[in-house]
Amino acid sequence: MKIRMPAGARAVISSLQARGYEAYAVGGCVRDSVLSREPDDWDITTSASPSEVKEVFTRTVDTGLQHGTVTVLMGKDQYEVTTYRIDGEYEDGRHPKEVIFTASLKEDLKRRDFTINAMAYNDDEGLVDLFGGMSDLQRKLVRCVGEPTERFSEDALRILRAVRFSAQLGFGIHSDTADAVRKLAPTLSKISAERIAAELTKLLISPRPEYLYRAYELGITRVVLPEFDRMMEQKTGEAALHAAKRVRPVRALRFAAVLYPAGEQAAVSLLRRLKFDNDTIRTAARIIRHMDRQLCEDPAAVRQAVYEVGEDIFPLLLEVRSAYADEKTSQQIQRVQECYETICREGQCVSLKTLAVTGRDLIRLGCRPGPALGELLEAALHEVLDDPEKNTKEYLEAFAKGHLGI
Ligand code: ATP
Ligand code: MG
Repeated sequence: MKIRMPAGARAVISSLQARGYEAYAVGGCVRDSVLSREPDDWDITTSASPSEVKEVFTRTVDTGLQHGTVTVLMGKDQYEVTTYRIDGEYEDGRHPKEVIFTASLKEDLKRRDFTINAMAYNDDEGLVDLFGGMSDLQRKLVRCVGEPTERFSEDALRILRAVRFSAQLGFGIHSDTADAVRKLAPTLSKISAERIAAELTKLLISPRPEYLYRAYELGITRVVLPEFDRMMEQKTGEAALHAAKRVRPVRALRFAAVLYPAGEQAAVSLLRRLKFDNDTIRTAARIIRHMDRQLCEDPAAVRQAVYEVGEDIFPLLLEVRSAYADEKTSQQIQRVQECYETICREGQCVSLKTLAVTGRDLIRLGCRPGPALGELLEAALHEVLDDPEKNTKEYLEAFAKGHLGI
């Protein structure tokens, strides 16, 4: 089997080989190439120690020396080059206590999570597939390398990764692996929020977010997303998965779609617990907050809604709402969407930012700074939301004078 590698990856491998070391592309890039999917990045595994790798290349970054990883810069690209290693005994199912370098590719492949992720490749030797990865790719199965219970006890994150890969690839989970997932799912509670969040995000932004249902059946969501189990009890979970599939694979959108039935508060506390960035949390929260608001198709009402919801959130809100909508509602949302597009195309004013008068203008006219000023600006904006033609300095100053009794 021949895999097409980027020139940079080939150069990294051949430079290491020229110095007498072994080197291979490994893991996700090999799996994705075999599946004719575009790999995100090309990881290299080598018999050279980190300091030996640094001697071979002029431009390197020490990314994870304690794990044996050196990043090699090649033109605009970068490659993580990791020394063959065995993970030492695991402490508390979280981190290997120590990393032991080894001279054997086989040992390095053996410590990897799933057979489909445990293949290596270079042009000279072709595919190195010691654990049946190729046959599992053909059978579309996620299966642990070695004894599943043992492997999940070493690192419980692998339990969630099994479902994440099955969602990304549309694969099943081998029965022995699934049995071990079910048995050990509760141990996911030992894993840090950041690692859980990264895998959960990959699952939800995959082409099959509805595979979250499998995580539910296997007892995983009970530990990492109990809100979803509550939704299943209340019969709202399936609609949420259906909706998640229909919004674009964007983190905040997918989480908003999945968590809408749980409510804004529950969603925010979950996303905080998973240590998401404030921007993602705020976006998801604002979408959920406005999911039940009434939407009218009248242009003035749409401008009012855009103002209240926020220009940044409004289009996202329409997206999640139409993902939840039945046919009739969906036609109505379509008409609101058309209204919204006209507002954008014509650059109609929907916020104080583009109002033709500013606070300063109103002060110049004699309005006192403070709450009265805010109220007057708001009143002027409402004139304009009602009728965009009124967004002129002339009209709004006259309007303000009327208010101020001048
Ligand atoms: P992606 O395309 O999502 O990056 P990937 O297969 O590259 O998929 P990574 O999480 O980047 O996944 O990990 C790279 C490789 O390292 C995996 O293919 C696997 O061989 C190994 N690996 C990663 N995490 C673990 C783990 N927790 N336990 C065992 N092996 C792992
Ligand atoms: Mg990767």
